[in-house]
Amino acid sequence: MFALSKNPTIDEIQDLYRSHTANVTDVAKFFLNRIESLDKDIQSVVRGLGSFVFDQASKLDIELEGHQDIESLLKEKPLFGIPYALKDNVLVQNLHAYSQSKVLEGYIAPYSADIYTNLDEAGALLLVQVNMDEFAVGASTEYSGFDKKTKNPADLSRVPGGSSGGSAAIVASGQVPFAIGSDTGGSIRLPASYCGVYGYRPTFGMVSRYGIMALASSLDQAGPLCNTPKDIKTVFNVLSSGSTSHEQTCLSFINDKDDIKKIEPKEKYVIGKPKEFFADGIDPKIIEKIELVLKQLEEGGHTIKEIELPYTKYSIAAYYILQPVEAAANFERYDGVRYGHQPDDIKESMFYAARDLFGPEVKRRIMMGTYTSSAGYYDAYYNQACRMREKITQDFKRAFDSVDIIIGPTAPTVAFKIGQNTEDPLAMYLADVIVSPQSIAKLPAISIPVGTLPVDGKDLPVGLQVTAPELGENVIFDIAETISKLKF
Ligand code: GLN
Repeated sequence: MFALSKNPTIDEIQDLYRSHTANVTDVAKFFLNRIESLDKDIQSVVRGLGSFVFDQASKLDIELEGHQDIESLLKEKPLFGIPYALKDNVLVQNLHAYSQSKVLEGYIAPYSADIYTNLDEAGALLLVQVNMDEFAVGASTEYSGFDKKTKNPADLSRVPGGSSGGSAAIVASGQVPFAIGSDTGGSIRLPASYCGVYGYRPTFGMVSRYGIMALASSLDQAGPLCNTPKDIKTVFNVLSSGSTSHEQTCLSFINDKDDIKKIEPKEKYVIGKPKEFFADGIDPKIIEKIELVLKQLEEGGHTIKEIELPYTKYSIAAYYILQPVEAAANFERYDGVRYGHQPDDIKESMFYAARDLFGPEVKRRIMMGTYTSSAGYYDAYYNQACRMREKITQDFKRAFDSVDIIIGPTAPTVAFKIGQNTEDPLAMYLADVIVSPQSIAKLPAISIPVGTLPVDGKDLPVGLQVTAPELGENVIFDIAETISKLKF
């Protein structure tokens, strides 16, 4: 048998293949054992995949045996033999996918998401599907429709963040080396911050949304949660590889791949420090941590520049109008006819019976979105929020005239207690205060773990967020690598 570190990297696992110490089936068994022993406490997995895992592993093992030159195999398939977890809103043909909603109980995907196909072609091994807030609305994973409460590995009495809480918790607890999440208004970055892993939201349009259950189509973007910046880059490159013939908002659909001009990394960066991201309401101890990182970056020759993003304080207000309007429209399909469960004993209408299976937060979004886009009110709410979206986008554009990247905290607090915010939707929404502006402006952003704070006898992770201009992915990976080497 072989050993792996608590939070193994892709390289560490592939070294087992390089040295002929293990094959893919051995690695699959190793991680399934970890899940068996660790997930009793963490509760991140919603579905094991039985023989599907070993069928994939055997196919990969045949490839492994047929290759004399393992290095060339790994070059061709950068995620060869790497197990991972998928959020329950991503479709894989012939597998269940419920978005953790009772409405979709029993649903089997008729086709696969582009991102799954890309991961599969890169040799990755899907191990399990993981928990999330129902249809990805929420910031704690407590709105999961089947009442599964995923725990934060750093403190089991706290939430892992949401909506990709299962993805963050499973990586942080070392049950898989990476997981896929989706981020509409922070759902990759917030749980990454709370659990102490790297979580990356790509530039809108870099990753195909085909086969990912739609929440808010002008905001949704899938991305990786990993243990290192290098792994984030590797998984992102796979997710965004190829071109899609299915998704019209995808940059590779609209443009020739060569015309998508990524921003190149630099030796030294001018780093914007927005006053609004260090304002009242953000835990001063978190601010101290971020300041410590900024100081070290400055000592390393980067320039820190105070900036202002005056409209970002309206991000939460704008987001919680824009997102529910789009969500309400997307959720119309769950009507018990096109999609959705038809209960056996329908006393009233079929439509009512199907939609009554939605949980309270999804119902709240449908109500809010329908109201703010209704004939009498859309000018006062929806149109106003669209104008604000433009203002927030302009704020960032202006800032990026004089800085390369922007740094701040990811979240205003460390992970909160299970149950603390479930009765208070507004408190739950406020967790998104510094992660929603990037989604609104379609920008790439990463949450980087920068140490922990002692709270109630536990060490709770703190996340630092780097935001870059559109197509600034390589700049983000570069600075994340630099930050990963600092002291926290
Ligand atoms: N907390 C946000 C919301 O509830 C984030 C959702 C997301 O990014 N999927 O809408």
